[in-house]
Amino acid sequence: MFAITGLIGSGKSFVSSIIREAGFEVLDADALAHELYKENAELRKKIAQEFSDEAITENGVNRAYISKLVFSEPEKLSLLESIVYPVLLSEIERINPVFVEAAVLYKCPEFAEKMKEIWEVEASEDLRKERLLERGLARSDVESRMRVQGVESGELRVESCVERIDNNGAREECREKVLKFLEKHIPNIIRRDVSLKEHTTFKIGGNAKFFSEPNDIEEIKALFAWCKEFKIPYFILGKGSNVLFDDEGYRGLVIRLSKFDAGNSLHSLIQTAANQGLGGLEKLEGIPGTIGGAIFMNAGAHGQQISDCIKSVTSITANGEIKTRTKEECEFSYRSSIFKKLSTLNSQLSTPTILSAEFNFTPMPKETINKNRKEVLAWRKSKQPLQYPNAGSIFKNPADNLSAGALIESCNLKGFSIGDAQISELHANFIVNKGSATAKDVKALMEKIVQSVKETRSVDLEPEIIVFTFPFLRTP
Ligand SMILES: Cc1cc2nc3c(=O)[nH]c(=O)nc-3n(C[C@H](O)[C@H](O)[C@H](O)COP(=O)(O)OP(=O)(O)OC[C@H]3O[C@@H](n4cnc5c(N)ncnc54)[C@H](O)[C@@H]3O)c2cc1C
Repeated sequence: MFAITGLIGSGKSFVSSIIREAGFEVLDADALAHELYKENAELRKKIAQEFSDEAITENGVNRAYISKLVFSEPEKLSLLESIVYPVLLSEIERINPVFVEAAVLYKCPEFAEKMKEIWEVEASEDLRKERLLERGLARSDVESRMRVQGVESGELRVESCVERIDNNGAREECREKVLKFLEKHIPNIIRRDVSLKEHTTFKIGGNAKFFSEPNDIEEIKALFAWCKEFKIPYFILGKGSNVLFDDEGYRGLVIRLSKFDAGNSLHSLIQTAANQGLGGLEKLEGIPGTIGGAIFMNAGAHGQQISDCIKSVTSITANGEIKTRTKEECEFSYRSSIFKKLSTLNSQLSTPTILSAEFNFTPMPKETINKNRKEVLAWRKSKQPLQYPNAGSIFKNPADNLSAGALIESCNLKGFSIGDAQISELHANFIVNKGSATAKDVKALMEKIVQSVKETRSVDLEPEIIVFTFPFLRTP
């Protein structure tokens, strides 16, 4: 656990906001204490016993009363702390956050000992006074607050594992210092604030807080271990041809397996097989994803799906366990697989990351394979709006004989737009980005489609694409 601590007005909230902005969660102990006042009747009762009934309200504490009392009788602060701290500290331990912002921690040596690092934010007495006055506090209040807090901070200091952050200068200087401390804890194979627009076929989405393209298994394991240590959610991205990231981006680590077999394009697999006279997947030509993404989604077209030729799939879990599954164990079904089923949006602990696969192709004359490839490409060109960024079919076909495209078209929605997102005039199950469409636009269009098809045709459509909402927590 990392504690961000300091005296009132020293700037610990500012430091916490920089850490949050960088992509890490910070637990605010003050806010947690107020939650406890609300939720813990026992705690309220104790406070009332020691102070007076006036100290509590039905759902919390009477902050004005307590502040006044504490300012006028400083020893009451220690009394309040002796009641609240044990409950607060055990709650912090239960939550076990990575970063915790708390003025209290440096007053509790036994808790401070549990900290991996303590970052103490420092500012001069005058500056702190100035900041408190800027917040609109009365001068007399400021003086008593500072007196109560122990201006001679030296006596309260914890000397072990402390990083001191001097916050007497410009905000930018402080920011730089904090980011430098953080940098030490971010592996150098991770880049920060990478645009997801550039990594999706939709060309939509904000930044990924963290982004990495590991070179080998050891690096993948190191990334997973880092995510676990810092409670950072992660997401495995292929070519991004079936995802809609949020405009706010992804608050976690996006991992691309571009250096692994699974990160190669489906096209390169079909091409290599065709060169050896091996067919069976040639009708998937034109699907712009990776092998891993195609297996995860069980991608298919024109009566073929990738599962038809799968012999086995090798994957790695967040705990670093590598496992090879037979085709049957992959539990393939329409646009789904065991990998997709195991992937819940909130936990990737049990979600295997696909590394490679073995295929059983069918020997066929090269001419036949290449003729099939050409035909499906021509079909795609005439039926799909490939001149605009898109993510393929937005909704699954609700049944074998019921096409999502035909249903949407029957609601006269072709060409309907919100912002720069448009239901394609060529193919009603495609949404195209006419320039600067946002995720918000696309989601609004999707809602419109679902509602119209439900009202007009009494059919529930289910998205085929993976849709993100922010903040998106997927912690291992
Ligand atoms: C123009 C166009 C046409 C399309 N036509 C078709 C079509 O005919 N048939 C069809 O089925 N789809 C089609 N798609 C959709 C899409 O291309 C496929 O679903 C594709 O298989 C997704 O692969 P990807 O690498 O882009 O995956 P992404 O979109 O990057 O990811 C999709 C999902 O797969 C997961 N994933 C990716 N790689 C891995 C991995 N290595 N391990 C674990 N999980 C992983 C991701 O976490 C995510 O949940 C089309 C898309 C476009 C843009």
